[in-house]
Amino acid sequence: MIDQMDNKMSQRNTLPTTWDAVADVVVVGFGGAGAATAITAVEAGASVILLDKAPQGQEGGNTRVAAQGYLNTSSTEAAITYFNALAGPYKVPQDMVEVWADEMCKNNDWLSSIGGDPQEHQFQPAGIEFPDLPGAECVHKYHHGDILGYSKTWEMLEQAVRARAIEVRYECPGQRLLQDPLTQEIVGVVALQNGKPVNIKAKKAVVLTCGGFENNQEMIRNYLTGMPYCYTSGSPFNEGDGVRMAMEVGADLWHMNNFAGPSMALKVAEFPTTFSMMALHFSHEPVGGMVVVGPDGKRFTDEKYKTRHGKVEQSGKWQALRTPCPMHMIFDQTMLDGGPIYDGKPTHGWTQIMSGYTWSTDNRVELAKGWIKSAPTLAALATLLKLPAGSLDQTVARWNAHCTAGADSDFGRSKMLAPFGAGPYYAVELSPSMLNTQGGPRRNKHAQIVRPDGTPIPRLYSAGELGSMYSYLYQGTGNIGECFAFGRIAARNAVAEKALT
Ligand SMILES: Cc1cc2nc3c(=O)[nH]c(=O)nc-3n(C[C@H](O)[C@H](O)[C@H](O)COP(=O)(O)OP(=O)(O)OC[C@H]3O[C@@H](n4cnc5c(N)ncnc54)[C@H](O)[C@@H]3O)c2cc1C
Repeated sequence: MIDQMDNKMSQRNTLPTTWDAVADVVVVGFGGAGAATAITAVEAGASVILLDKAPQGQEGGNTRVAAQGYLNTSSTEAAITYFNALAGPYKVPQDMVEVWADEMCKNNDWLSSIGGDPQEHQFQPAGIEFPDLPGAECVHKYHHGDILGYSKTWEMLEQAVRARAIEVRYECPGQRLLQDPLTQEIVGVVALQNGKPVNIKAKKAVVLTCGGFENNQEMIRNYLTGMPYCYTSGSPFNEGDGVRMAMEVGADLWHMNNFAGPSMALKVAEFPTTFSMMALHFSHEPVGGMVVVGPDGKRFTDEKYKTRHGKVEQSGKWQALRTPCPMHMIFDQTMLDGGPIYDGKPTHGWTQIMSGYTWSTDNRVELAKGWIKSAPTLAALATLLKLPAGSLDQTVARWNAHCTAGADSDFGRSKMLAPFGAGPYYAVELSPSMLNTQGGPRRNKHAQIVRPDGTPIPRLYSAGELGSMYSYLYQGTGNIGECFAFGRIAARNAVAEKALT
């Protein structure tokens, strides 16, 4: 054991004598942040190698399956005010906020300059997530091209990368950073290509853009408060590699407990990502009786609440939605017969866009698979789900009484106020689900990754959701906007480094 540890340590302290590839800037992760970094660096005259863990066709990370919106703020001053209000007590250093605000105003100009076609979302000002906060008027949400969704912004970025002299290596995960033991400089990356380690030298810098830890259950348990597990609706390739690699070379971490979630969704063993349930969307009103219960068989929330990326207002404060696991959505025959309970519309989400699963129109295939469970009575369903005896009878009776009274006096739900009909009854297990994590290595205003004492780790940069700026509340489209902004900053500063020989 000690021998193995010694081996690992000496591997870390020894730099390779030969290199399998060399570039000025090595970018680890080909999502939105990686694309913005690589494009900016190559336009500034640098040679660039861009690595992605996923096979060709599955690169792009969360950006590929996002709703395709990005933020372009209209005024630096208002953006500073709004950002500080979003952060609230979870303050972010002002020099960072200022750089963020300044750069976020330039996203449209940048996208246009690389061949994009910025179009403002039609539903303004509804896209302002916290309209009551000061500075909120700065929010303007855009996407590329004439359609919102269907990965258009991603497709544009991907084409912009391909159109330039950027070497992209797919199925080539960065494994560890190569750090000069004397100078502490990051001089390259060990990646895996065809299962074999390859040493890639970065003459100027390495930029980590490999996303968050959405698909790493151990990190989720360690860092996301109150989450025994949580599944992603984005890329399953985001497994926290960047967090680990940065920690190994001495990085500080920040915003690790913040994430865009949770929501409640179905997760089945056959697929790596979650299935969103139609009945839980605030804007859909399927027919039939439906409630969500926790392990005690009781409701715990307004099931139709429109969370602000997972935050709900409780006791006058925005806090993460409670998700007492295991949770079950209980529903009746009318809802089962009312059409697919899965929202398969392919506008965003890894399951919708990448997995391409066709849910049966009458839900019968998923019933046969056991994804939907059923029992003739609520008592039998409670037994099947291992819920306390009598709990579902009581919960549904109470819900039906709310419907008769026309008001949910427990949680104030105002949508889908339909009572349960006669049995049989149905259940789907719900898991906490998220779009993305926000935490990762702490960066400074130059996009350098810093140590706990605030000093930069030489020649190491980051951009995107890996150590993002967002510490508490989140404005939708802020993540992709930040990918563009900090991708440009990281690239500019990386290219300005003096090249190693
Ligand atoms: C369904 C959904 C909808 C969303 N909608 C929006 C929206 O409309 N607007 C918005 O701003 N945000 C949205 N978000 C959040 C946003 O998509 C992400 O935060 C953002 O795209 C992250 O970009 P990124 O480049 O940092 O990471 P990603 O786009 O996730 O890219 C990371 C890349 O790194 C690769 N990678 C991972 N590990 C390694 C490794 N070891 N070596 C090499 N490569 C590696 C991955 O394969 C991936 O390609 C949404 C997220 C989801 C899931």
